[in-house]
Order: sequence, then structure tokens, then C-alpha cells
Amino acid sequence: MTQKRIAVFGSTGSIGTQALDVIRANKDLFSAEILTAQTNDTLLVQQALEFNPNVVVIGDDKKYQVVKEALASTHIKVFAGEKALEEVAAMDCYDMMLAGIVGYAGLRPTLQAVQMGKAIALANKETLVVAGDIVMQKAREHRAAVIPVDSEHSAIFQCLVGEGNNPISKIILTASGGPFLGKKPNFLVNVKRDHALQHPNWSMGAKITIDSATLMNKGLEMIEAKWLFDLTPEQIQVVVHPQSIIHSMVQFEDGSIKAQMGLPDMKLPIQYAMAFPQRITNGFPRYDFKKPQTLSFEEPDLKTFRNLSLAIEALKMGGNMPCILNAANEIAVYAFLRNRIGFLDMTEVVEQSMQKMTFIENPTLEEYFETDGETRNFAASLIHM
Ligand code: NAD
Ligand code: MG
Repeated sequence: MTQKRIAVFGSTGSIGTQALDVIRANKDLFSAEILTAQTNDTLLVQQALEFNPNVVVIGDDKKYQVVKEALASTHIKVFAGEKALEEVAAMDCYDMMLAGIVGYAGLRPTLQAVQMGKAIALANKETLVVAGDIVMQKAREHRAAVIPVDSEHSAIFQCLVGEGNNPISKIILTASGGPFLGKKPNFLVNVKRDHALQHPNWSMGAKITIDSATLMNKGLEMIEAKWLFDLTPEQIQVVVHPQSIIHSMVQFEDGSIKAQMGLPDMKLPIQYAMAFPQRITNGFPRYDFKKPQTLSFEEPDLKTFRNLSLAIEALKMGGNMPCILNAANEIAVYAFLRNRIGFLDMTEVVEQSMQKMTFIENPTLEEYFETDGETRNFAASLIHM
């Protein structure tokens, strides 16, 4: 394999830092050519000095000078601001984008990379939730490979290798159930930020950790799967599997089910997406069948975790409804993280936004952008932020 030049978008985040761990451990295979961060200038500079990329972007304009000065003795180009993300995504200096920005902010740079025909290692699921039809259409047009990093989708992708055109009967997305598995609304109503941030199996960024606690994450993943694997809503099933050992499954027409397993560690799907179609050796801890462990499965509690029901509704409706769901959810999650609203209020914000915003069956990209902005304004007005 020739050395692959990686653009790590969101390099200071949970996914971004783990992607850099993979690059560090495989310098013969990968180099980091672009690094981007929103606010953490200290870590960005430290990463730039270690990996010597072509370019860095600091999202927060106010930090441009400090980053520029810290890298003055190097040849690293420094850009700042939101627009710069799209500009550097259009550069020639890389082969693959590791899309590790969180939320809607990842859409425009990822779309730019797709239009450049770059390979995408996609962690930023919101990109497909918001505008999956357009992103996948452009990916086909420009022959940009979109390889999932999300562990469930990586599992499905791995199960499909070698299956050629064998149709999928259905996929089974596993969900850990999050920290509040088995709890009821009378408990959830009092849940505070710090408790919700403690995930039993995965250590992740704040937004996805809250989404995992509300099960919105699984709803976003159903929509992500629809676009990645070209499925109908009826072909996507969610099953709660608290041990997070089976990362997801595919059932084929003959009834046979393939599963992908391993310890929960995001470095594995990150490395798989970056090295695909190769597998590379590593020193990650491995699942041990000699240690007694029961793998269990149960139905998700849709009555308690209503965010998942709302996401299923958005998945079935299609059009701009997933975009509305996502925008309202981002506003709600950040309000919850700032202790402005309660745990169950997040669902109210999403539900009311879905009822209020205008449904568009076949939105243009511009209409997705407008839907996102309008929904954010409406959702924020519910919270009085
Ligand atoms: P994180 O919060 O740890 O990191 C987010 C990164 O994006 C940071 O580098 C930050 O600087 C950057 N960023 C934040 N806001 C930005 C903005 N407005 N503009 C530009 N950059 C911005 O998040 P994470 O947990 O690493 O998640 C990243 C993405 O990967 C999310 O879409 C998440 O759903 C997905 N994902 C994460 C995990 C995980 O284990 N962390 C697993 C599966 C999928
Ligand atoms: Mg996942």
C-alpha cells in the first residue's frame, strides 16, 4: 500500500485524536496532511508540531494569531474560520478525509471533499442524516468512496465484503442502551448532565454521548444506514445489546446472519476505514472467549426513549424531516449540556420542531441549509436561549 495522505477534520476530538493514534502507529501507511479544530488551539498546535501537516485550520477566528505564531518556524499553512474548512477540503494535498467534525458543521466540508472525488472515512453521521440523498448522489457522480467509521456501519460494511450483489434482507443495528437502559420517565425527568455523560461502554465526545443516553444516536444511525446501504426503513432493525461486543449484523435472503464482533474500541473501525481494503496488525486489546460473558439482546423501549420513535418517524417521512430532527436535536443537546433544559425536554424540542417546520419532500441543498437554520431558530425560541 502506498502512503495514504489523510485530512483529519476535527483532529482534536474523540475520533480525531484516535485517528491520529492510528496514523502515529502506521507512519509507513499514513500521513496527516490537514488538521482542523474548532477551539482547542493548544492541542491543534501540538498535533501540528508532531505530524507536520500541509495545512491547519482553527475554526475560532480569534485564535488565528496564536496558532500562526506558534507555527511560525514551520512551513505549515494556517487558516481560520468556517469558510476555510471548505477551502482546504478542496485542496489537492490529501487522498482521504477522516470526517470527524461533530454535527451539521461537518456537512459542507465533507460535501466539498466528495465533489473533489476524495475517499471519505465518515464518522460525522449528521452529514448523511441532514442531506444523505445529495451526499450519496454526489459521491456516485464523483466516484468518491464513502467508508463508514461509525462502529455499527463499519460492522455492516465488513459483513458485506465478499457478498457481491447478494441482496440484504435486513440489517440489525445493535445499541448499547446507554447509561439509562431499563429506566423509566419518572427517573429520566431528573437526570442531570454529568450523569448522562457517563456512558457504560464508550468514551466519546459530549454530543454523541448525550445522543446515546437518549437513543437519538441509534435513530441517527438508522438514517445513516439507509443512505450508506440503500435500504428501506423496514429493512433496518434496532436491537439493544448492552455488552457492545456485536457491533451490528446483516441478514441475507437465505436467512443467514453475519455479525462483526470485537471489544468496543473506535480505533478499530477508524483503522479499517483508513486502510480499506487492507487489514493491518495492531496491539489493541482483544475479546477473550475464555472470560465468561453473556451476550444478551432485547427490544428497545420506544415508549420511554421517544427520541428513537421520532427518528424512526423522520426516517419514514424522508424529505427534510431528518434535517429538522437533527437541527432541533443539536439545539436541544447543547441546551441540556448547559443545564438549560431537562433530559426529557430534549424530546419535546425535537417533537415540536418536527410539527412546526414546513415539510419538503424533495429538498435542494439550499433548502436543506434553510431548513437547518430555520429549525435552529425555532428550537432555540422554545428554550429561550
Ligand atoms: P468531539 O466533540 O470529541 O470532537 C469534535 C471535533 O469537531 C473537534 O475536533 C472539534 O474541534 C470539531 N468541531 C466541533 N464543532 C465544530 C464546528 N462548529 N466547526 C468545525 N469543527 C468543529 O466529537 P466526537 O465524539 O469525536 O464525534 C465526531 C463525530 O463522529 C460525530 O459526528 C459523532 O457522531 C461521530 N462518532 C463518534 C464516535 C466516538 O466514539 N466519539 C463514534 C461514532 C461516531
Ligand atoms: Mg455508532
